[in-house]
Amino acid sequence: MTDAPPIESSARIADPGTPTGRGVLRDSLTGQQVLIAGHRQGRPQTPAAECPFCPGGTEAPDPYDVRAFPNRWPALPGASEVVLYTPRHTSSLAQLSQGEVRKVVDLWAERTGELGRRADTGYVLVFENRGGEAGATVDHPHGQIFAFPEPPDLPMRELSSSTCALCAERVPDELVVLETRGWRTWVPRAAAWPYELRLAPREHLPDLPSLTAGPRDELAWMLGEALRRLDRVGGGTMPSMMWIHQRPTRGHWPQAHLHLHVTGLWHAPGRRRHIAAGEHGSGVMVNPLEPTVAARMLRED
Ligand SMILES: [Zn+2]
Ligand SMILES: [Zn+2]
Ligand SMILES: [Zn+2]
Repeated sequence: MTDAPPIESSARIADPGTPTGRGVLRDSLTGQQVLIAGHRQGRPQTPAAECPFCPGGTEAPDPYDVRAFPNRWPALPGASEVVLYTPRHTSSLAQLSQGEVRKVVDLWAERTGELGRRADTGYVLVFENRGGEAGATVDHPHGQIFAFPEPPDLPMRELSSSTCALCAERVPDELVVLETRGWRTWVPRAAAWPYELRLAPREHLPDLPSLTAGPRDELAWMLGEALRRLDRVGGGTMPSMMWIHQRPTRGHWPQAHLHLHVTGLWHAPGRRRHIAAGEHGSGVMVNPLEPTVAARMLRED
């Protein structure tokens, strides 16, 4: 038996260490974009008694319906904001009324416009981690907004074609989950997750600020309803991730079509879907649930 070298320091996470660089790095072997955020290890975990996001809390001193403020623990050196959806601590976008979600949509649109006008912003990403399992550190219903200096890889990959992939796609009825006059929610044909949804306006609209009142109302209803369907299939709140792709804030992007990605993190009630080594190693995702079956489960009232 040989003596293994002692394992050192790899388990110590409290020391934030020396920053290796500012901004988004790119791995020289894989090309993967990475943000090193060691300083975030010091951020508070879910406070038991005093919620900083409840009215009167440290981040929300005054009464509010919805509220956006700079993130004290940003993962990014650029602008980073927290968006509070409701003053009620125990709630979720799935439990808010359509009128309440509409106020959130309006705030997303306003912040997208405001941050997008800054010279140092190239892309505004609105997103949410819902449920502790999804990585939210505070229970209070909230999401975040990152203003990236340059558009990151994933939205750029979607924009790599000169034409709009969403307008070109004919979604078969069996994959459709929800429909209104102006919006549609469906399970993608090649869904990578068991419960994966896409929400998009039927009209080729580029971003949140471009939505008029009607489409904003429809989005407010549809997003809440999509999450309620996920929760119902999950038999309780299914932890989920949501992010919104919209037009980069600099340059000419006629192919950009606003849409939301919603991903439930379970493959069965209470059972987390993990991305396995074969998937990480190949980049090929293995979805254990037939998308038409997922769509039917989510569609049924
Ligand atoms: Zn709270
Ligand atoms: Zn389009
Ligand atoms: Zn997208």
